[in-house]
Amino acid sequence: MKEFTYERAASSQEAAAKAQQTRGAKFIAGGTNLLDLMKLEIETPRHLIDVNGLGLDKIENTEGGGIRIGASVRNTTLAADMRIRRDYGVLSRALLAGASGQLRNKATTAGNLLQRTRCPYFYDTHQPCNKRSPGSGCAAIEGVSRQLAVIGSSEACIATNPSDMAVAMRVLDAQIETVDDKGQTRKIPIAEFHRLPGDTPHIETTLTPGELITAVTLPPPVGGTHIYRKVRDRASYAFALVSVAAILQRDGTGRVAVGGIAHKPWRVEAAEAELPKGAKPFSAGLLADAKPTNASAFKLPLVERTVAAAMNEMRQR
Ligand code: SF4
Repeated sequence: MKEFTYERAASSQEAAAKAQQTRGAKFIAGGTNLLDLMKLEIETPRHLIDVNGLGLDKIENTEGGGIRIGASVRNTTLAADMRIRRDYGVLSRALLAGASGQLRNKATTAGNLLQRTRCPYFYDTHQPCNKRSPGSGCAAIEGVSRQLAVIGSSEACIATNPSDMAVAMRVLDAQIETVDDKGQTRKIPIAEFHRLPGDTPHIETTLTPGELITAVTLPPPVGGTHIYRKVRDRASYAFALVSVAAILQRDGTGRVAVGGIAHKPWRVEAAEAELPKGAKPFSAGLLADAKPTNASAFKLPLVERTVAAAMNEMRQR
């Protein structure tokens, strides 16, 4: 691990200002992804700004009837919160499908949104990887790619986003709240938060340098039946080959977001009304532009079957 300096921030704006002004600075909270990456020298921050202790650990009702989740709320706390379990069941289930109990105890809401891909070549510093080392190439495209993206990828990168939580937040239309070095706040719809890889796969979100996530807001509950289905190579402690976050609303329409297939949680609202009636994800347009590799092509029928299974389960409930 490379040497680094460390400080505790006293306020969110101060943390953002320090990150903006200090070359090579990074925020740290739970550290469940960052510390692994630092040990492998994939991430080499010169300075860590600890954003625990900023009061961002609360889950509060909003005036509009929704809920506001502080950036440093632990995944375990969020999954167990009674309001989340009752009104946003898909989020609680997605959180519990991720990682292990020990990791969920440390991992935070913001950190979960910012976790990096699990592409095996990203973690192997002997291999070219445009995400780790821009311009070096992509070993995955001609390599082992069964875990990787089937849609929204580019010639520079076919990595997937590994988060379960983000797939549920996508189906719930969450908004990410941030603050910058000047104290300016903004809300970013989750649909616009994660970027597709394009020519710059190392830029993964629409955050500006130093911008700090302070909370995630969920709109008022939509009711209906919530499901999170995760298909993976082993029953626990594994990332999704395909995951489906689905809500069958009381008016009979559905909402679906798919994980494990793209650089961001994948949702096509225009096709969702057809899905509860039995339309297939391809014909409904969910994956109309898919471009899998030979090794990842199995994910296309897997998405179709997983969406169908989720819809069947919801109808039965
Ligand atoms: Fe790197 Fe992306 Fe290629 Fe994986 S898919 S090797 S993360 S550039």
